[in-house]
Amino acid sequence: MESYTIHDYDVLVIGAGGAGLRAAIAAIEQGAKVGVVTKSLLGKAHTVMAEGGMAAAMGNVRPEDNWKVHFRDTLKGGGMLNNWKMVENYTKEAPDRVRELEQWGAVFDRTPDGRINQRNFGGHSYPRLAHVGDRTGLELIRTLQDHAVKMGIHAHMETTIYRLLTDAGRVVGALGFNRQTGDFLVFRAKAVVLATGGLGRIYQVTSNSWECTGDGFSLASMVGADLIDMEFIQFHPTGMVWPPSVMGILVTEGVRGEGGVLKNSEGRRFMFDNVPERYKGEFAETEEEAERWLQGDRNARRPPELLTRDVVARAIRKEVNEGRGSPHGGVFLDIASRRPADYIKKKLPSMYHQFMKLGNLDITKEPMEVGPTCHYVMGGVRVDPDTQATNVPGLYAAGEVAGGLHGANRLGGNSLSDLVVFGRRAGLAAAEYAAKQTGSYQVDEAQVRAYIAEALQPFNNPQGENPFALMKELRATMQKNAGIMREESELKAQLEILANLKKRAWNTSVSGSRAYNPGWHTALDMRLMVEISEAVVLAALARKESRGGHARLDYPDPDPTFAKINHIIRRKSDGTLTVVAEPLPEMPEELRKIAEAKDLKELSDKVGA
Ligand code: FAD
Repeated sequence: MESYTIHDYDVLVIGAGGAGLRAAIAAIEQGAKVGVVTKSLLGKAHTVMAEGGMAAAMGNVRPEDNWKVHFRDTLKGGGMLNNWKMVENYTKEAPDRVRELEQWGAVFDRTPDGRINQRNFGGHSYPRLAHVGDRTGLELIRTLQDHAVKMGIHAHMETTIYRLLTDAGRVVGALGFNRQTGDFLVFRAKAVVLATGGLGRIYQVTSNSWECTGDGFSLASMVGADLIDMEFIQFHPTGMVWPPSVMGILVTEGVRGEGGVLKNSEGRRFMFDNVPERYKGEFAETEEEAERWLQGDRNARRPPELLTRDVVARAIRKEVNEGRGSPHGGVFLDIASRRPADYIKKKLPSMYHQFMKLGNLDITKEPMEVGPTCHYVMGGVRVDPDTQATNVPGLYAAGEVAGGLHGANRLGGNSLSDLVVFGRRAGLAAAEYAAKQTGSYQVDEAQVRAYIAEALQPFNNPQGENPFALMKELRATMQKNAGIMREESELKAQLEILANLKKRAWNTSVSGSRAYNPGWHTALDMRLMVEISEAVVLAALARKESRGGHARLDYPDPDPTFAKINHIIRRKSDGTLTVVAEPLPEMPEELRKIAEAKDLKELSDKVGA
């Protein structure tokens, strides 16, 4: 019989990215004993890849900025499908969370008068992103990790959670295995916070790290937690397109925030031709006006390269499809002709090195070639807007794995501050819940044994399939049939492909030992990846319109029927998934006025210099 070690915690946090670390800190502050599990090493979570910055209406660069403008921008960017209460909590608390990071040692870039500097990003009306060059995520993780370790987290590194454990409808822990040794671990916990990040790896072209296989969505759904808005996947407009080995790696929006412009093969700045009706009047109409904005003229409007990501990604795809793309199937992003070389190297050091090392291209001299890459998922585990509790007692979710804040499309920079605002809220609520669990609770040994046997099955199945081949098939078909542009026939075909892949994912074969066995890891990842892929496709089929990160060729426009509908993905008692259309929570009148304000001056009590 397989042995396993047992670890007991009040709160178990699954994930050591920004959300997981902030949740752990909050729970420890409440006196909870906290364990943190991560597939990789502490300090190496996907969050370290974040570049451009964290959005918070601090008003350091433009005093007119405040939570109300950030609230309005976030809802507008999200196609008004966001959970308004989450947006209110988020925009009001984000500045405090940034200042807190500074107190804990984060070294943000400074304004000339010594305050935290803030940069422009798409969809934000004012410069709002606190940043550390283009390495903001690294600094965020360094700071949170130092703080969490000082406070005494117990970290289980290189450990993958394979299943959540339940007792009488409550989550009471998790089963995992150490990737280095293959040994199993059982975590008994009064409350569990999921902070497992995104799902970009279900697509072929993605900016996401290897960890982002979408485990948390499936783990939650498998124990009965609802998911929300899974059709909304963000394809970032600017990923590297060349050379093929680095396709998808992100080119930060900070390049456009610092003045970079997009051009097609004819040298035309095509974004001027692609301003959607809802943004008419808010963006510069000529290159001359955009240039004045870059030089600091506050009467000039921002360039259309800073439209929201969904708009820019689709405009790039159109240029390429209509034959005006760059030689390798993207478009040109030019910062070289806009800013001096020293400035580019200072403000965008990682981009400079990324292109030099991976593409042999000097971005201070030549334009980059860029195209859309799967970047972020707006949908996720449905949570309470104040506590991040799911509908399953004992289970909380925060960060990219949680849904609701970003609606149909996330604004750049709104994730890093989401992690710290809602990571903290989740940690507080989970610790409070754990403190109330005074009665007996236990982990069901039979459940643990059954899951272990299931996890080891690929070693005892010599006729099974190669998990790497299955993974390749999943990613290629999701890219083709459920990617940036979707239509009914392809989505239906993908559902059939997924049904087939699901069966095959439970019939894989691996050999060798359990120590560092990537074949085994891939076999288990696949089981979770097909589950979440199915949720994405079901939700995408149900939304017969185009909005935000969900674009349908057969329904190219937004449809008022869907304007106030969230899609809930629910697991039925027979284990299958279903989509339920649910009306958005009604927004209070005073907030609706803010959300729909036409003139930003209405929202500002301070007027800029
Ligand atoms: P992650 O940082 O992804 O961490 C997830 C954690 O969960 C990891 O520790 C992982 O090992 C662990 N995990 C996952 N599954 C399991 C499992 N089964 N068992 C155990 N552990 C598990 N956003 C911004 O706001 N501003 C930016 O400038 C920005 N730049 C970005 C640049 C890039 C290249 C990318 C890809 C994204 C960027 N984003 C940015 C988005 C942002 O980085 C992410 O949304 C955010 O970091 C997610 O953080 P998280 O804490 O939710 O999860």
